[in-house]
Amino acid sequence: MKEIDYLAPASLDEAYAALQNGKTSAFLAGGTDIIVQLREGRKQVDQLIDVKHIPELMRYGWTDGGGLAIGASVPFAEIYEDAEIARRLPCLIDCATLVGGIQIQSRACFGGNIGNSGPAADTVPALIALGATLTLGSREGTRELPLEAFFTGPGQNVLAPGELIVTVNVPPQPARSGAFFHRFIPRNEMDIAVVNVGARLELDAAGERIAGARVSVGAVAPTPLFVEEAGAALVGQAPGEEAFARAADAAAAAARPITDMRGSIAQRVHLTRVLTVRALRRALERAREA
Ligand SMILES: Cc1cc2nc3c(=O)[nH]c(=O)nc-3n(C[C@H](O)[C@H](O)[C@H](O)COP(=O)(O)OP(=O)(O)OC[C@H]3O[C@@H](n4cnc5c(N)ncnc54)[C@H](O)[C@@H]3O)c2cc1C
Repeated sequence: MKEIDYLAPASLDEAYAALQNGKTSAFLAGGTDIIVQLREGRKQVDQLIDVKHIPELMRYGWTDGGGLAIGASVPFAEIYEDAEIARRLPCLIDCATLVGGIQIQSRACFGGNIGNSGPAADTVPALIALGATLTLGSREGTRELPLEAFFTGPGQNVLAPGELIVTVNVPPQPARSGAFFHRFIPRNEMDIAVVNVGARLELDAAGERIAGARVSVGAVAPTPLFVEEAGAALVGQAPGEEAFARAADAAAAAARPITDMRGSIAQRVHLTRVLTVRALRRALERAREA
């Protein structure tokens, strides 16, 4: 492994300046992806910019409207140990508690899971189902974009040179809505998803029809998918198995998986259907409790 400079900016301005010094960079958040990739020679950079000393990236809080703004570097453990988040956004807990084990969760964060931009990243379908956006910052200012617009390919994203993820923004959730994240892995824990699904359902005032729905599927395409057709298949329908099966068909139709050591194309398409139905069932339970 070649020598790499280590920088620990204490502010966003210092981080932006570090990104302008002409060297190739990666960010060091929890380090649970990037250190492995550098050690194995899968990535090469001149400098690592530690993003765990920047106050804006290390804090989280509720917005006036009832959304949650999560600094990109806040460790998962801090999020899932927060009782208010667990009560109001249990779907975030579904995914945050699944990433690796406790050691990983004590370092790793949403910014790293998203920044790594793997097709199977576990927090992404959950966040897309919740309608999350990213705030990206650079010396020129900030811009906000829907999470599903961030990814362009395996390990690839729209981040411009000089830019970083500042916050992950979960908007206020609709009334009478619930969301759930589900994944399939060959082992009980510490494995990469064969398929993962996030789903949110919103019921009408009478609780008899689906007023809105968002479905996202991971590990079945070069990037995590936001399957708008699955949501459209649900809106206006009575919540139940018939509607869920139609949404699952739409999710399976959107899947473009590959066969690899974890699963075949046929298994992944089948799992997309199964997990979509299961995630919708649990999202419905939560919507009815909301
Ligand atoms: C044993 C083990 C088990 C794992 N299990 C899972 C699992 O179950 N599910 C899963 O999804 N992942 C898993 N992972 C992968 C990894 O832990 C997660 O992807 C984690 O969320 C990465 O976060 P991090 O903070 O460690 O990122 P880092 O490794 O610090 O960074 C990852 C990438 O994100 C970029 N980045 C970091 N912060 C920013 C920022 N603010 N702005 C822009 N880019 C940024 C970095 O440049 C780098 O390219 C596992 C890894 C290990 C080693």
